[in-house]
Amino acid sequence: MSRRRALVILSFSLTCILIAHPYSRKMANTTKFMPPQSLTRTGAIVVGSGLAGLSAASQLISYNVPVHLLERSPKPGGNSIKASSGINGAPTKYQPIPDTEFYGDTLKSVGKVLANSRDKRENLISLLTTFSSDAISWLVDDRGIDLSKVAQLGGHSRPRTHRGSGQTPPGASIVMTLLNALKTSPLFQLKTSCLVTKVLKSGDEVTGVEYTCEGGEAGELHGPVVFASGGFAGDAEGLLAHYRPDLAGFPSTNDPKPGSQTLLTDVGAQLLDMELVQVHPTGFVDPKNPLTPLKFLAAEILRGEGGLLMLDGRRFYNEMETRENVTNAITRNPAADASPRQWNVQLVLDEGVYNAAKSHIDFYLWKGLMRKATVADLGPNALASIQQYADAAAGRVGDPFGRSTFADWNLRDATPESVVYVGRVTPVVHFTMGGVVINERSEVLNADDTPIRGLWAAGEVTGGVHGENRLGGSSLLECVVFGRIAGDQAAAFFNKSK
Ligand SMILES: Cc1cc2nc3c(=O)[nH]c(=O)nc-3n(C[C@H](O)[C@H](O)[C@H](O)COP(=O)(O)OP(=O)(O)OC[C@H]3O[C@@H](n4cnc5c(N)ncnc54)[C@H](O)[C@@H]3O)c2cc1C
Repeated sequence: MSRRRALVILSFSLTCILIAHPYSRKMANTTKFMPPQSLTRTGAIVVGSGLAGLSAASQLISYNVPVHLLERSPKPGGNSIKASSGINGAPTKYQPIPDTEFYGDTLKSVGKVLANSRDKRENLISLLTTFSSDAISWLVDDRGIDLSKVAQLGGHSRPRTHRGSGQTPPGASIVMTLLNALKTSPLFQLKTSCLVTKVLKSGDEVTGVEYTCEGGEAGELHGPVVFASGGFAGDAEGLLAHYRPDLAGFPSTNDPKPGSQTLLTDVGAQLLDMELVQVHPTGFVDPKNPLTPLKFLAAEILRGEGGLLMLDGRRFYNEMETRENVTNAITRNPAADASPRQWNVQLVLDEGVYNAAKSHIDFYLWKGLMRKATVADLGPNALASIQQYADAAAGRVGDPFGRSTFADWNLRDATPESVVYVGRVTPVVHFTMGGVVINERSEVLNADDTPIRGLWAAGEVTGGVHGENRLGGSSLLECVVFGRIAGDQAAAFFNKSK
């Protein structure tokens, strides 16, 4: 471990003791919260029912704090429930080799922006990676979720992205387990189809939210507020158009809904990295409806388990590079379609990859997003590309694009008749790295870096941890780590003020 990292961790340990880190199970010494006289606080308010909101709610309930969870969609789970590759953690009992590289890989992925606001980012990154192991053990050992399979995704130097061995994708199994446990508590109240429209503030304290529900119910709730409202990748006409007009016309994996960051800036929250948007290199182009702008994600795990990419029938890049680099390698070529703007990339798997990620691939085959084919079906140049890849996987030659791990790819001698699984993919707007600035206690900071009392945030609504590029698997992780911290801190705040 580097001396600098050891110092960061030591400073964390001290901070954690001082603020009563969630895993220490002690309460924070927060200042007494005085609600306005006329208002009754009946619990804490969590906005958004994705993994960050559910993690915060789970912590709040563990301290016997009543939770009002408000969700604008009719169904809970947000984008978290769609997550298909997994959640990062290191070190964990499932990793084949000891892993001390997570912090370094994350810093590398953050890129040049690390130099700006370094202080705001480094502590959060250290917290994220240091407590990733606890996050996995909370989900596995406390909640009984299967996360026993580990894969290496692009930008990672070790296998550390965890998912279950069964059919259920990791996002769905984590979200449903947490949600079902919350529903057994009489302290938990979930209101779906209820949109939070305003954050209420009295003086310099956040005191609750205003909301309106389908069916006519509307009102105010008072208490400490945890914002877990997700990103703005689906807000094509609003925040995305404002911060990244160049991405106009790109398809997305996210539902077309407005981002809620503005509700927080209205009460003084500071924003960071709003222009940093992750375009995922592989969203499926559905042959039945190729021009729809909402795309189904081709999970990163497919490349991680050995899948290769070809552009117009030829391999062109190291599939294990970061999402940003793979995307750039695609988009520097002319697009195949203008609206939405999409390319003609083939994702190709062999039988070995199929067996390693069978549950994913069977689902994509069933949805018609992938098909079983032969190498000859992929066009005149495919055989040479696939044989070159097979040679590199067998160790007979070095990979011309620098790929060094081939996971479960086992086709060694490709022929025109060799069986492959193939789907058309294209870059899709997927994740927004920017959002409101938080500190190590998940408190939302205002423009002069002081915490806004009574307000916490976690998950994709926040900015700073991922910088220029989020590593696959680190978003679910940030939801758990910072969601739990937010829950702990809001619980301490609520209980102190009783
Ligand atoms: C297809 C897909 C696959 C992915 N796979 C992975 C993966 O394998 N690993 C990984 O780490 N990450 C993955 N991600 C990213 C990850 O899922 C999300 O970034 C993460 O789940 C965000 O969680 P969250 O709790 O912050 O927000 P969300 O899960 O998006 O939840 C936010 C919720 O807040 C609600 N909301 C927003 N505004 C309001 C409001 N004003 N009032 C009330 N409710 C509101 C939304 O409706 C939503 O339900 C994937 C994303 C997608 C789209």
